[in-house]
Amino acid sequence: LSFDQMGLKDDLLRGIYNYGFEKPSAIQQRAVMPIIKGRDVIAQAQSGTGKTSMIALTVCQVVDTANREVQALILSPTRELASQTEKVIRTIGDYMNIQAHACIGGKSVGEDIRKLENGVHVVSGTPGRVSDMIKRRTLRTRAIKLLILDESDEMLSRGFKDQIYDVYRHLPPELQVCLISATLPHEILEMTSKFMTDPIRILV
Ligand code: AMP
Repeated sequence: LSFDQMGLKDDLLRGIYNYGFEKPSAIQQRAVMPIIKGRDVIAQAQSGTGKTSMIALTVCQVVDTANREVQALILSPTRELASQTEKVIRTIGDYMNIQAHACIGGKSVGEDIRKLENGVHVVSGTPGRVSDMIKRRTLRTRAIKLLILDESDEMLSRGFKDQIYDVYRHLPPELQVCLISATLPHEILEMTSKFMTDPIRILV
């Protein structure tokens, strides 16, 4: 399967090729189409497999840029990963005019408020700050259709379980969920059964 065969938006394809990618990595080959078609996906994958770019390109495909509401939310265990993901989304989505914002601890809340009130399509953040922004009603959740939980095992081992559940409770019921994790311990499987519907499991 090539990027051309995935049925991606033209402006997104331009972004992917301009970024220097020629063909999809294994996880991109297997996860992109099901996610774009709206399936819930559990991907067992390590970093370095192309999972960040997989997240970026599915999010870019799913978002309607004419609607300046947050439509996709990505949760990551660290500020660095959340920022990196936001950066890749902005780069790959450059020709589509996608607006993404990193909602992470350690940055000023004022900047979050300004960016979010301006209107962004995608938020990539850490569970604590995202949950905080939702409770302040600065981050509006009603248009969110896709939730991606990246490095989920790492989020749990950093103690973010309660915040993840908090965030999930504020999202619309018709939600598509994609969970990425290197390992699938009991607590992760518990999350998948609470959050996900008939998920496809991919091991790379
Ligand atoms: P990731 O796991 O998404 O952080 O990707 C690991 C590295 O592989 C990064 O440097 C990416 O830019 C690169 N990469 C991801 N997907 C592809 C691809 N389809 N073709 C070439 N390089 C890629």
